[in-house]
Amino acid sequence: MCGIIGYIGKQKAASILIEGLKRLEYRGYDSAGLSVISREFGVETIKAVGKVANLENKINGKDILGTTGIAHTRWATHGKPCDKNSHPHSDCEGNIFLVHNGIVENYQELKENLIKKGHKFSSETDTEVITHLIEEFNRSVDFKNAVLKALKIIKGTYGLAIINKKEPDKIIAARLGSPLVLGIGREEFIVASDVAAIIRHTNKVVFLEDGEMAVITPESYEIFNAKNKAVNKGATELDWSLEKAEKQG
Ligand code: GLU
Repeated sequence: MCGIIGYIGKQKAASILIEGLKRLEYRGYDSAGLSVISREFGVETIKAVGKVANLENKINGKDILGTTGIAHTRWATHGKPCDKNSHPHSDCEGNIFLVHNGIVENYQELKENLIKKGHKFSSETDTEVITHLIEEFNRSVDFKNAVLKALKIIKGTYGLAIINKKEPDKIIAARLGSPLVLGIGREEFIVASDVAAIIRHTNKVVFLEDGEMAVITPESYEIFNAKNKAVNKGATELDWSLEKAEKQG
């Protein structure tokens, strides 16, 4: 279980995501990756085995313009560390992209069912079943409800940040047994597995609890419990320095 960061706001997401991943490096990991989404360019995904610096090198020289994105440092539990097993993972159509901390315990059975329905898998991870489940449900219900339905089926633990090409100005984040914090900035939000990746941007945070989901747009956020009821959670103002956040982490 390693690190997650998602950014949505007015600034270019890629450099903020890389900087956030570096703040999470102390946890140890084997690979890293990010996806940035924009209406103009769709989703740009870059992955690299090894250090976040390797990912940064792959990005160097590319001007990634999107202002919404998700990123991940992976500690492989299912499938060796390699580009195709690195997160973000995607569905068949290339609409849903997500990063995941944790383990989907019933992934084998879910994967077999999805393959029978015609889904094509491109990694050896447990995580990828979540993308295909959301894709499957998103055929009949909207993005948020598709995520809810997928989360009801999976067994295990997750911290998730998810984007969808069909709704490019949105990040959905959810947790169960993996930490997730939402940072509330000025006209921007940062969701991360650890305050250390947020504190440089804002000290106003909302700690998500198990079973909760956040739907985040550039203007606002809403939090729902597992029963899909909106919950009104106040933000906490942290009196933490960056150094302290990193130590606490
Ligand atoms: N189980 C997932 C994988 O092996 C996520 C691991 C993690 O938490 O980094 O890809």
